[in-house]
Order: sequence, then C-alpha cells, then structure tokens
Amino acid sequence: MSERIFVDVILPLALPRLLTYSVPDELVSEVSPGKRVVVQLGKQRIYSAIVKTVHQNAPFDYEVKNILSVLDEHPVVNERQFKLWDWIASYYLCSQGEVMNSALPSALKLQSETKITLNSEFDHSHEKLGDKEYLLYEALLIKPTITLPEAAAILQKKSAHAVIKSLIEKGVVIVEEEISERYKPRRESRIRLGMEGQDEPKLKEYFDQLEKRSPKQLDTLMTFMKMLFDSRIESEDGGFVKKSELLKTESASSSALNGLIKKNILEEFVVDVDRLQSSPNQLIEPNPLSDAQQKVLGEIKAGFEKQDVVLLHGVTSSGKTEVYIHLMKEAVSKGKQVLYLLPEIALTTQIINRLRKHFGDGVGVYHSRYSTNERVEVWNLVLKFNKAGEKKSQIILGARSALFLPFSDLGLVIVDEEHDSSYKQIDPAPRYNARDAAIVQAKFHDAKVLLGSATPSLESYYNANKERYGLVKMTERFGGVRMPEIIVADAKEATRKKIMKSHFTPELIEAITVALNNKEQVILFQNRRGFAPFLECRNCAWIPHCQNCSVTLTYFKLNHQLRCNYCGFTQNPPAACAKCGDHHLEVKGFGTEKIEEDIAIFFPDARIARMDLDATRTKLSFHRIITDFEELRIDILVGTQMVTKGLDFDNVSTVGIINADQLLNYPDFRAFERSFQLMAQVSGRSGRKQKRGKVIIQTQQPEHWVIKDVVENNYEAFYQRDLFERQKFNYPPHSRLIEITLKHKVVSKIADASAHFASLLRMSLGNRVFGPHQPVVSRIRNLWLRNVIIKMEREASATKVKQLVREAITKFNTDKENHQVQIHIDVDPM
Ligand code: ADP
Ligand code: ZN
Ligand code: ZN
Repeated sequence: MSERIFVDVILPLALPRLLTYSVPDELVSEVSPGKRVVVQLGKQRIYSAIVKTVHQNAPFDYEVKNILSVLDEHPVVNERQFKLWDWIASYYLCSQGEVMNSALPSALKLQSETKITLNSEFDHSHEKLGDKEYLLYEALLIKPTITLPEAAAILQKKSAHAVIKSLIEKGVVIVEEEISERYKPRRESRIRLGMEGQDEPKLKEYFDQLEKRSPKQLDTLMTFMKMLFDSRIESEDGGFVKKSELLKTESASSSALNGLIKKNILEEFVVDVDRLQSSPNQLIEPNPLSDAQQKVLGEIKAGFEKQDVVLLHGVTSSGKTEVYIHLMKEAVSKGKQVLYLLPEIALTTQIINRLRKHFGDGVGVYHSRYSTNERVEVWNLVLKFNKAGEKKSQIILGARSALFLPFSDLGLVIVDEEHDSSYKQIDPAPRYNARDAAIVQAKFHDAKVLLGSATPSLESYYNANKERYGLVKMTERFGGVRMPEIIVADAKEATRKKIMKSHFTPELIEAITVALNNKEQVILFQNRRGFAPFLECRNCAWIPHCQNCSVTLTYFKLNHQLRCNYCGFTQNPPAACAKCGDHHLEVKGFGTEKIEEDIAIFFPDARIARMDLDATRTKLSFHRIITDFEELRIDILVGTQMVTKGLDFDNVSTVGIINADQLLNYPDFRAFERSFQLMAQVSGRSGRKQKRGKVIIQTQQPEHWVIKDVVENNYEAFYQRDLFERQKFNYPPHSRLIEITLKHKVVSKIADASAHFASLLRMSLGNRVFGPHQPVVSRIRNLWLRNVIIKMEREASATKVKQLVREAITKFNTDKENHQVQIHIDVDPM
C-alpha cells in the first residue's frame, strides 16, 4: 500500500491552527504548497483553502477528510509570502487565516457566502464556454446572483469552485462583494481630425466655406489647429487635443465644435486615462538630479552598504520622489522588482502618471479602489515576473495591501510618507503596520528599504538616531523654492476683541482676499475628528445619542439626518428634545460642511468645494474634485486630512488651518506628533513653484511649543521635546504597547471578564499591565468595551511577551462562559 498523503491548509478563518486533510490518490500529483484546494469544513461549508505543507503524518486526534479538488495549476502563493504571513500572524497575534484573508484579493478566495454575478463587460460570446460553464452562465441570465452552494447544486457537484474560477478568468462572472467598489477610470474626451479634416485639399475648401457661413466654427477650428500643432511637437501619431482644454479657450464653443464633428472635419473619442494601457510609447529618462539630490542619492546608497533600512527625512517638495525614481531605475536595471508603498489617498493619477512617464507599463497599481478582477490581474502579473523568460521591469505602486503580492525577487521597497497612520490596518485583524511588515518582507528578499517623509514618525526617527536605520536629510526645497511663511493667528485674542468673523480670524480673511485677488487658490484645513456637528437642545443641552454606541450622533445638513460615525446608524432629527420637550434643537460644532458654508458668506463670488470622506464617498467624485481643483475650476478647497496627502497643486498660494487646538488637545499620546505632522504637511501644499506660500494657523495657544516648532520648521526640536514628554509616562518609542480590547453585550459581564483577564495577564506580566479601562467610546454596535494595555520595555523579548499573552487567553477561555467575550489584540496601536 502506498503512503497516504496529507496537506495542512490555511482556511480564510480565525482558526488557531492549520487543518489537515488527506489527498485522494488521483490528486496526489497535483497538490503542492501555495496552490488552492477545495475543502469541506463541518457538514455544510465549502472553502477554498491554501496548501501550506504536504506531508505523510496522519493526525491522530481527529478523523481527516479528503480534499475535494485542486484549483490551481501553479501555486498562487510562494514560499516567501508564507514567511511573511507567519511573521505577521506571530507578531500581531492573529491566525494565519486572518492574514490570508487580508492578503488575497477576494476573487482568489471564494467562500460559501460569496455571490457570483455576470460581468457587465462580458460580450456574451458563449461559444468558448465549456458545458458546465455554460450551465452557470445560463443560470445567471435568469437569476442575477447565485451563491457557491447554489452553483454547486446547479452543476450537481459537491463544489463549483473550479468552474467559477475559470468563468472569472474568462471574464464572464465577477465576485459580487466588490461590485459597489468597482473602480471607474477617469475618462477623457479628446478631439482629433476627422475623415474630412485629414484630407488637406478638402480642409482648405472647408476653411473658405466656414469663413462665409459659420465664422464661429472657423474660430473653433483654427484654435483646434493651433493647439494640435503645439501638441504635435511631442507626439508621433496624428495628435489630439483635450476637449476640455479646447473648450476652455475663449475662441472655441461647444456648439461650433459639435457642428465640426457632424461634418466629419473633427472627431471626438474617449479614452481611459487611468488604466495600465495608457502608458506613453516614448519613455522619458528620469530628470537629471540637482547637486543636492545627487549628494542625497549617494548618501542613501552608502547607507544601504551598511544598513538594510534608510530613513530619508526631506522637507516637503525637496524632490524626494525624484530621488526615488533614480533608485528605482537602478533596481529595475538589475532585474529586480520594486515595491513603492503610498498611503491609499495619496495614490492619485498624479503620481501614477509621473512614474509611467519613466517606466511605462512596467508600473502596476494595486489599491482598494480597484475591483477584485483588476487586482487579480496585477497579482498574476507579479506572479509571472520573469517566468516567461522575458526580462520585463516591474514596479508595483500600491497601498498597504500591495505588500502581499507574490513577489519573487524584490530589490527595493520604498515607503513614502512612512509616518502615515493609514499604513496601519485597524480592522479586521491582522492589525499590521505595512511599513514595519515591509521591512521584514524586504529581509526575506535581501532587499533594501527606503522610508521617506517630511515629518518622520517618532519611532522611525528614534530608530535612525539609535543607528538601527541609516539617516539622510534634505533640508531645502527643490529649485530654491522657499518654505512657506507661517503666520500664527491668535483666535483667543480675536474673540476677546470681537473681531472674529464666524470661525475666521482677520488674518485668515485678509490672506484669502489677497490670494483670490491674485487668482491663486486656497486650501482650508479642518480636522473632522471630534468636531463633527451635532444637535443640542437650547434649553437643557440634551444631545441625541446613538442607540447602539455611546457617542453623539453627527448632524448632516445636506440630507438633514443624524448619523453615527461608529456604526452607521441613521435617524431623522427628533422634532423635540427627548428630555424637556423643547422644540428648538440647535446645530453645534463645526465640521467641514459648516466651514464651506460660512466661508461662502465672506467670499460670495469664490468657487468653493469640499473634500472629505462624505464628499468623496463615491470614488469618482474624489477624482472630479481633484481634477476640478487642478484645472482651476475651484478657488477654495475645504477639506480634512485628505487634502494633506501627496497632492501637488502649483497654484495654491495660501493654506489656512482653521483650528489647531483641536489637534493639540486630542487625548492621545500621539496628539503632538499628529499635530506637527498635519500642520507641516498641510503647509507643504502651499507655494510650490514660483512664489513663496503663506500659511495661517488659527489657535487659542499661540505660544504652544508644537506651534513654534511648526512655524520654525524645526522637526529636530519637535522630536527632542516630544521624546522627552513621552518619557514621563514611558510611551513609545521608549516602550512598546499591546492594546487588548474585550467586547461583550452585557455591561456587568464585561466588567468582570476584563478584570479577570487583566489579573491573568498580571500573573505573568506584572506591572506591565494597565487597566482594564473604559474607553472614551465605551459601547459600539451594542457591545460594551474595555481596554487592557501592556507596556513592555523595548529590550523585552516581544516573542516571550506574546507567548504569555497567548497563554493568558487560553486560560481565560477554559471558562466556557468567557467564550462570548470577543478579544481584539492590537500590537503597536496607532
Ligand atoms: P517631494 O517628493 O519631496 O515632495 P518632488 O519630488 O515631488 O518632492 O519634487 C517637487 C517638485 O520639484 C516637483 O514638481 C518635481 O517635478 C520638481 N523636481 C524635483 N526634482 C527635480 C529634478 N531633478 N528635475 C526637475 N524637476 C524636479
Ligand atoms: Zn431639552
Ligand atoms: Zn452607533
């Protein structure tokens, strides 16, 4: 009898360990680590799981089931990815299944609940479908969505995974959970010469005709020809003119243009300007570096000789990106892959285009605004790197999840804006920080890591100062552009003198007036957090609260609704106060919406827009706002954090920070760091090219040391002082934190259970354990919360501490009663 073969598989679930399945003889030759297999769990549920190992050790404590089928011809996950998954699971105290869930694009992890629908882009050419595939295709014509078990029933098979997988690959179906997020590229209308227009003698005739009959069309045509001529200098083909640019000119009109299109003199066509295919045919060499940049490049390379990680601290607009491009070029020329991480929101067309100019379609983009199918495309592109024997350069530009792509030969990882808190995944587990995981990832590939920021995180700067990382500085902006002039406007004094105009100091009003007169643009920054508008009874100060969470409801003027920012609960504003019955509920607080409204009172002629999470809920509108601002259709942009990220607008001369106190006073040990970063980054948006920018910071505490450091653009001073402040309570980077949140429906139970859990931890970790505390928001989605914090010495063995935490959880769970208590672990919380 031949030996039985087993596989240990990772299921996309929070299971404490891997499960073992046996492999039927006919599948033995097909299984190998990294391939997906279909397995049954319990009586009903079917999953696609990933094979971690193949072995011959029968488990003796449970009866094994056979795997049902093998989905992949070639592994979709490689050895190094497994190493990264292992590290994340052990460092961030979660299961491998949870890591897998974050790591794989959803089209690669079909589960029972997954809904399948027809791909709207499928052209219904069903001849190329197999019989089974056709059956499902037909079913979908009748019923718009089907689940995996339904599909299996239709096929009369135990699992439909293999058929669905091939339907996905053929572009026939898509996985539904992502439909709502389907990424729409920006479409651009362009104008080129039509059939008649390309014929020169005919064109001449038209000129004569138009002169007599339709001078308006002649003007438009002449303008078009002139713009076409200018653009042709760069382009090889017939050339085109952007419709929007043409119509922006005074001499062209849209009715005249339509007339010309009707006559076939001109032709309109539409292209997607965001997608992979829109690369220029002619690649441009990277810009030559300035002397300062050249020096920095040399220092970084020297740093890499000694260390794997180098921190580049360069002020905003110092030309960091340009330096990255040169480093990438070198890595690519050595045949290596490059990963370039950016915060999600900073991943705009601006940076994508900038890279494509130099690297063409060797640049892949991976982020959550892309649909699952597009993400699988990039996944496969990375998987195939150098497989077909062709040496093609590969640069992946992505948000944090791009870390999980199946790289086989990384040479360089760039983490831009490394301080950004969006590198940290908050929910669900794994609560990993992509910057830190990238450093580990790079090790597995022997790759180098460059962390870049104008305002490094305290942790990274601390590591650099302790010589764990190399440190390179750029203190001047590129091209001699000066740092902005920062003016501190004392809001307290202005209020006392009664010279505030709504939320605006005279200094800010003055600066906006000047900017608008000069036809320059203005950005107003208002941090949303903790300052959302709410309703309050004018008589007894009663405030409507969420019924599921212990927070006040936010008021949205646009649709006149109250909404909970934690659970999404909405209701109409109550007609009267629930406490005293008074009918007057007033809007209090001021969010971006209020600022937008109030600023319009003082600048009635300005074109004002708002960019925050609510205004940009649809991804299209995000693009539209940016494009409108870029193309000068907006004068004043009011926004939250979003406006601080990576955008490069030449015409912005003035930036206003509406309320710095609300940043400074936030109850968190990172409040000063966040304040400094935000203010410095927002300031960096002003005066980028010809002219020195101006920044107005409104504050009640003009003497505050953080404000002083921002004004003097003195990161070093800020760093030293904040490091000192944190010493008092032994906060990171002096220590490391693990924050454990316990959740339960019943308030008395959560109190007891969390006290018990903390005491279990104290048995092994002693006075490193703090809490349980009741968090500021102590109930979310009907669950009561308690926090327990572990503060460990930097020198302590993190592995050991985590082992003790795992043991405490196991002990806690020996009591069945505690199984209802949810435990969330956040290592290195941000
Ligand atoms: P950072 O990434 O530090 O904010 P960027 O790399 O975006 O700075 O540079 C700021 C501006 O200066 C950009 O408009 C960029 O095109 C320009 N720039 C930087 N370096 C060069 C260079 N070597 N040659 C030409 N332009 C450059
Ligand atoms: Zn009242
Ligand atoms: Zn709620």
